[in-house]
Amino acid sequence: MNYLIVILSMLLSGCIGAPIALTPQTEQRLQAQAPIRFLLTFDDGPSASGYNNPSRSVVADLANNPILPGIKAVFFLQTEASRSGGSSRGHKTMEREYAAGHILAFHTATAFHTNHRWLNDAELESTLTQGAADIAAITGSPPNLVRPPFWNYDKRTFAAYQRHGMHVLLTDLSANDGKIWGFNGSPRRRANLYRQLSVLREHIALGELPTVDGVIPVVVTFHDINRYTARHMQEYLQILLDSARINGMKTAAEPFYTDTAQLQRAALARTVKDVNEPVHLPGVWNWVWDADTR
Ligand SMILES: [Zn+2]
Repeated sequence: MNYLIVILSMLLSGCIGAPIALTPQTEQRLQAQAPIRFLLTFDDGPSASGYNNPSRSVVADLANNPILPGIKAVFFLQTEASRSGGSSRGHKTMEREYAAGHILAFHTATAFHTNHRWLNDAELESTLTQGAADIAAITGSPPNLVRPPFWNYDKRTFAAYQRHGMHVLLTDLSANDGKIWGFNGSPRRRANLYRQLSVLREHIALGELPTVDGVIPVVVTFHDINRYTARHMQEYLQILLDSARINGMKTAAEPFYTDTAQLQRAALARTVKDVNEPVHLPGVWNWVWDADTR
């Protein structure tokens, strides 16, 4: 797998194209579409760090920032990893996230960031049961959203998620800031997000994305365990607004979610309904997993 990491790093760092140019036809089609609202999601947390905890810094910036105070997000958690939700500080951080109106969702309940496809049936069942119980212990109900580690699922793992009432939420845009497979720093964060939103805009213009509560939710993925991301969170909010503007897209009066119930409806509307649905994964993950058998 090491050669993949090298290729991945090369692709992530060097191959960000310019945004797709806005044609008059796309511009006209966009006018028939609802405005967009960014649906922020965070993977791999919570951080268990006792020093400038990046997850807590992200939560603070979502609550208080110059663009829109009180932003609510979805956190895809690692509930049992010792450097994450399996620690007492991590556990408290998840409680704070819930108390602040964020949605707690499932990512892993293993000691590491394990691909669910590598678990046998019994292990998979046990990890889903554990993760659901960990989250229900905080929120009072099991999570209904899951993001598969490494964006990777197959018929077996998808069916297991369904049995647990968990719906798979992928992403439209990715900050490519994963600590495990991406970079800590993201010097081309602006160009990267501009480009990704321009690609998505073409699909939105064709009416391919659902409108929920009067807006088109655009799912964005960050990693709250990444200190770089945490330090740049407010800047990222501005970059997203700038991305919409330079791509000729209308944002809603509230360009991010501030209402937990609306966030929940939007996230569920964007989940994968059928395991055979063709999906877009961030970075080069389609290329990695399509070489595999699904
Ligand atoms: Zn992850």
